[in-house]
Amino acid sequence: MSKRTDVVVIGGGIVGCSAAYYLAKRGVAVNLYEKGTISGEQSSRNWGFVRQQGRDPAELPLMIASNRIWQGLEQELESDLGWRQGGNLRLVTDESQLQPYRDWKKIALEHGLHTRLLDAEETRQLLPGLATPVQAALYTENDGQADPLRVTHAFATSAGRLGADINSRCAVLSLETSAGKISSAVTEEEEIRCDAVICAAGAWSSRLARTVGLRIPQLWLRASVGYTTGGRNLTPCAVWMPGLAFRQDSDGGFTVAYSGAYRHDLNLDSFRFMRDFWRCFKKYRRSIRISLGHSLLQDLMGELNSFTSQRTLNPAPMENVLHQALNKFKASFPNQSHIQFTRTWAGYIDTTPDMLPIIDRIEQPGGLVMATGFSGHGFGLGPMAGQVAAQLALNETVSHDLRAFRYGRFSEGKTVAPGNVL
Ligand SMILES: Cc1cc2nc3c(=O)[nH]c(=O)nc-3n(C[C@H](O)[C@H](O)[C@H](O)COP(=O)(O)OP(=O)(O)OC[C@H]3O[C@@H](n4cnc5c(N)ncnc54)[C@H](O)[C@@H]3O)c2cc1C
Repeated sequence: MSKRTDVVVIGGGIVGCSAAYYLAKRGVAVNLYEKGTISGEQSSRNWGFVRQQGRDPAELPLMIASNRIWQGLEQELESDLGWRQGGNLRLVTDESQLQPYRDWKKIALEHGLHTRLLDAEETRQLLPGLATPVQAALYTENDGQADPLRVTHAFATSAGRLGADINSRCAVLSLETSAGKISSAVTEEEEIRCDAVICAAGAWSSRLARTVGLRIPQLWLRASVGYTTGGRNLTPCAVWMPGLAFRQDSDGGFTVAYSGAYRHDLNLDSFRFMRDFWRCFKKYRRSIRISLGHSLLQDLMGELNSFTSQRTLNPAPMENVLHQALNKFKASFPNQSHIQFTRTWAGYIDTTPDMLPIIDRIEQPGGLVMATGFSGHGFGLGPMAGQVAAQLALNETVSHDLRAFRYGRFSEGKTVAPGNVL
């Protein structure tokens, strides 16, 4: 006899663990399966920015709601998450580039989000010691940041405390259907019958969806990050500008990345979804390098379709790009010139052609909820995305407008324009 539960969650990233938490909190029987370790992939590898700033208008209401959750999350999960509501600051160094920021400020105001365009002097006050020229900065003061290493684990632990069955190193291999509806999930260890499945499998969602005949255009973008030795106290803001993004942790170390440098390692999906992505690649051609590494070979050998041969995606960081970012940081703040990287890493971002997630209850097969494709923005959205996915799995009406996130927008052959993100 196979086991039974109400909801199966696939993926132990922030979205899956948050969904499991909100389900367990409501007394729903939930089993979460993670093929590697909880938070092993994107959710522990990101910059830790929890920003509303710069989001596509379609994503903004969900992110504003997520920001409200973040504000009380340490208390709710009874855990230190490294949460700091120090604001988000986007520097503009070239006056000719100001217009998109003026436009985005209007979007923010339409959504009731307090965002200001600071002049050079106001910007310098928030960034003492800034030695490079700056024209202006977009400042959203109720944005925040948190420690990616802690948050997803805290969701998983709290979900477990409430009765969720959290399994790591146990992949879901396929989904079974009966009468047009999901009937069970087949894991490495057991088959488990259920009423609903939430697919929060991050970069693997497209591959998993294929097992039930669904097509999700999704590609992987490699992005690199580094963490430094302790520096001088600088700013509570999370800061980004062309070529650099950083935030300072409570121990003084900085998370540093090169904003706008991604690598796409070719694999079979690159060809499968070429038409879906050409507009996206065209728009971001200066930021995305295509590379022919061993991913294509791995895919040809079937390794990227096996959920057990790649327990945790751990791509190599682009060290040259990271050192460019660190040098830019030191040139911008000469009094921090002593800092060095203590570790560097990379992660694969799961990107959709319009850079918006898929958060939807699938019609066929019924009982399947997709919460995936967060395109580099899912850490901030994670708490709310999990809550919405939980509601969809329970067949409840969601008060947010999810039309921009529907599964069906990528029907075969249609190319969708990339979203309006900064
Ligand atoms: C370098 C980098 C910087 C980023 N910076 C930010 C940022 O500052 N702010 C922000 O908001 N977002 C950021 N992001 C994006 C953010 O990290 C992701 O959008 C978010 O973590 C996605 O969460 P997830 O739960 O959907 O996916 P993931 O965290 O990738 O989790 C999916 C999990 O599913 C598991 N899985 C897959 N298939 C199966 C299977 N068949 N069975 C069982 N388990 C399976 C995987 O092993 C994985 O652990 C960044 C991402 C990267 C890589």
